Amino acid sequence: MSNFIVGLTGGIASGKSEVSRRFEALGIVVADADIAAREVVAQGSPVLAEIAKRFGSDILLADGSLDRARLRQLIFADAEERRALEAITHPAIRARVREVCAAAESPYAIAAIPLLTEVGGRAAYDWLDRILVVDAPEAVQHARLLRRDTIDAALADRMIQAQASRAQRLALADDVIVNDGHPDQLQVHIEALDLRYRELAVGRAADL
Ligand code: ADP
Repeated sequence: MSNFIVGLTGGIASGKSEVSRRFEALGIVVADADIAAREVVAQGSPVLAEIAKRFGSDILLADGSLDRARLRQLIFADAEERRALEAITHPAIRARVREVCAAAESPYAIAAIPLLTEVGGRAAYDWLDRILVVDAPEAVQHARLLRRDTIDAALADRMIQAQASRAQRLALADDVIVNDGHPDQLQVHIEALDLRYRELAVGRAADL
């Protein structure tokens, strides 16, 4: 049971996955909101039933699973429909991430929430004990996106601009990893934070 939970966020291609992998290699459980988002709409789930009620049963494929392409189409250009979907899915995603963190056997757990700033920040996740932001200059995000996703420069720009700004994310941070250098530098920073979080988790356990 981990009762110290660190929220991990950062802009697209800032290096969140890389950071998560390195914490996992140190034995820390990472609960990923993107994975939770897929789990909560699994075939037969109450969330999927709610979605079918709100958007119509033709949002389901013949086998009863979610027709993601159709749902994407429905919410793409319609903010109201998108909000309706989020009102159904977000509480379930939050609950699932929290459940995975709480069940973790590691000294502390990490809740990786890529869009933490966009979905309401600390107020939406008031059970996070600390927030760690992975930060990189936009030019670095841009270059990594081109390399990782083999997309063109205009799309990379749009993806970065569609997100919260660097300043908005940093405003939430208790800790920041600036990931604009060699991956070895990242490792040094992560090991220092890991030690700190282990200490804080022990302090928390003593308080209980
Ligand atoms: P995110 O999960 O934030 O979208 P990733 O962890 O996938 O970002 O990182 C984006 C890309 O940049 C990946 O291909 C990753 O391997 C690479 N990357 C991450 N950190 C570094 C770094 N310090 N130096 C070079 N490449 C990096």
